[in-house]
Amino acid sequence: MPLSASVLIDGPSELVFDYAIPDQLKVLPGCRVRIPLRNRPATGTVLRVHEAPEGDFALRYLTDLVDPEPLITPELLKLAEWITSYYGTPLEQVIRSIIPSSIRGEKGSSKTRRAALIDKPPSEEDLTILAKRAKRQHAILSLLTAASKPIPITELGGTSAASSLKSLTEKGWVKLIDLEVRRDPDSGETFVPTQPLTLNPEQDEVLQAVTKSLNSEEPPNPILLHGITGSGKTEVYLQSTQKALDLGKNIIVLVPEIALAPQTVQRFKARFSEMVDEIAVLHSNLSQGERFDEWHRIRSGKARIVIGARSAIFAPLPNLGLIIVDEEHEPAYKQENPPKYHARDLAVVRCRLEKCSVLLGSATPSLESYQNTLAGKYEIIRMNERADGASLPLTRVVDMRIESRKQKGRDAILSDVLRASIDQRLEANQQVILFLNRRGFARSLQCPPCGHVIQCNHCAIPLTYHRADERLVCHICGHQAIVPKLCPECHDPAIRFQGYGTEKAETIIRKVFPSAKVARLDTDTTRRKNALRDTLRDFRAKKINILLGTQMIAKGLDFPNVTLVGVLNADLSLYAPDFRAGERTFQLLTQVAGRAGRGAMAGEVIIQTATPHSPSIQFARHHDFEGFVDQELEMRRQFGYPPFTHLALLLARSSHERRAEFTLQTLHRKLAENLPDGITLGDPIPSPLTKSHSQFRFQLLLRGPNARALSRHLNKILSATPTPEDVIVTADLDAYDLG
Ligand code: ADP
Ligand code: ZN
Repeated sequence: MPLSASVLIDGPSELVFDYAIPDQLKVLPGCRVRIPLRNRPATGTVLRVHEAPEGDFALRYLTDLVDPEPLITPELLKLAEWITSYYGTPLEQVIRSIIPSSIRGEKGSSKTRRAALIDKPPSEEDLTILAKRAKRQHAILSLLTAASKPIPITELGGTSAASSLKSLTEKGWVKLIDLEVRRDPDSGETFVPTQPLTLNPEQDEVLQAVTKSLNSEEPPNPILLHGITGSGKTEVYLQSTQKALDLGKNIIVLVPEIALAPQTVQRFKARFSEMVDEIAVLHSNLSQGERFDEWHRIRSGKARIVIGARSAIFAPLPNLGLIIVDEEHEPAYKQENPPKYHARDLAVVRCRLEKCSVLLGSATPSLESYQNTLAGKYEIIRMNERADGASLPLTRVVDMRIESRKQKGRDAILSDVLRASIDQRLEANQQVILFLNRRGFARSLQCPPCGHVIQCNHCAIPLTYHRADERLVCHICGHQAIVPKLCPECHDPAIRFQGYGTEKAETIIRKVFPSAKVARLDTDTTRRKNALRDTLRDFRAKKINILLGTQMIAKGLDFPNVTLVGVLNADLSLYAPDFRAGERTFQLLTQVAGRAGRGAMAGEVIIQTATPHSPSIQFARHHDFEGFVDQELEMRRQFGYPPFTHLALLLARSSHERRAEFTLQTLHRKLAENLPDGITLGDPIPSPLTKSHSQFRFQLLLRGPNARALSRHLNKILSATPTPEDVIVTADLDAYDLG
């Protein structure tokens, strides 16, 4: 029985066909192969190797390997297999997402330029003659001799230099080659080199632990670095990276979102400035060509440090020594489409598979990781002091219910306390960050007489008013609508805006502080390429006094002149229908507060809320991570939530409400029959977001102590239960987004 390969054919149609493998070829998943397709030669990528189905004699043979080496390393293949068994996603689909289309295929293949270089240096005599008779040839020769490396022809005069170059090659002095050019996303940027700082004792302890881990014979336990904001985690990352490099090993650095981590990337490039060519940066803004080049640079071993967002965990870096996961608690590490992996968890798995070290860092570790330290699976090291000797900011909580009464009727956006404090900072020429986790102008349009709220036609959420273009916009599907003058239900003209977002806050702040320079950062203002980078640069250069933004500005930023952080409405994330709402709020508040007072001047944080006594707010106010975690873990234990269980979310959606509901009920019934021990099955309910993109959504939760057992049971039932064509059913293991 010959083996066969499922091959994903190059090209936009993404066809997958099976081919028999000739005996003499060693074909692995991830290999690029040549195949016959409708009698024409084509190329593709092997997704899976399996035994040819019996009796399938019609299978054609694949012709050849394009490259002997697969696009991914053998270790990554093991990681792919792990993902398949853990999340229950078919291997084909996993390989497909590990090797995205920009990396497969030939279209992205590397770009070359014709270039000239010295082949055999001419004699002194020849040179003197040339200098007299052929000035141009002489000039080119001197340039090439001085450069002692290939120079692209375009830089030698292009076509006008063609005849001179021809003569020079004919005489054997110069040869022409194809020079591979790297499409470098950061070309043109310059970095001021930095030297390692002398570590303080807390930082040194972490570095010692990482060093020990790097030198360990056994696969080491992951290290969780719980370091308060400003404790100098990045410096520890940098010096840990150096240690791994010294051992000849390579490093992956994961950040939640590269656009939000420009400072981290810059600090790596500045520290390792003499090897910038060996740093690869992977992020979603790369062009296809750039991504292709970066990937192949990594695969070929030319890059030694890879920095990227979650998918960089699949960087095919050989000889991996260390994976650093910055802000390990960030939900952005969870992939939303299948395979719905969590990059931090994959980092830990990859380290086990490749026997390398892993360093997870955060000021607010996830409860999952923290529980792993309590269970002895991870090592925990704390950094409780700010590295530059600054102290944590003083935090005040303002009760906005009282403010609203004072400011009668109007939306109270700025409390008196916050307003006075901003005034003070402006006077002292210090900077202010204001945080509001909702974009747009106002929350929604509501009619006071009848209570009607204008909703999206396709999603069950209110539309948000965007003043810049006088539109109502859905923040889920992007649907836009005209602002009505009368209530569409009762035709009353009293309809009015409720709540507020960053856009309205900006208008009011400009009005209250007319002399201040105000900038806003949210997804609306950062659509233009580099808008985020430019605003942050202006803020650093102190051309902006007040920076207002969504969670985009919550983390990672280090501006020494910021002495005040205001949280305009801390309640926005607190009342989401999600058992992690308290954790998210605590994390957000701690991270935002961490932006204040990072320089020599003391910082202050003012949190505005209508629920000043909520535990997340109070613990954040006192910078009390342990206190928060203790009570939160207790709650999770009582209710059987993660990290004490694993959880899987099963979602059925359809434009046909009844069919979605019925499908989920059917699945629920089948899941309930022969339910394995230890698994609890929740009732089918409408999702908290009952409708989105014109589709009705129903969901149920499964919980159990063992993730694999959960996904096995789910997948068994899912594959045995036919679902109507117009109903989409998805499963999400270790889900973060609970609908
Ligand atoms: P974190 O990532 O933990 O929030 P950073 O790495 O941004 O903290 O460090 C905060 C500040 O402290 C930075 O300005 C950094 O340059 C400085 N810093 C870090 N380590 C040291 C050190 N050992 N000595 C002096 N300053 C340091
Ligand atoms: Zn919508």
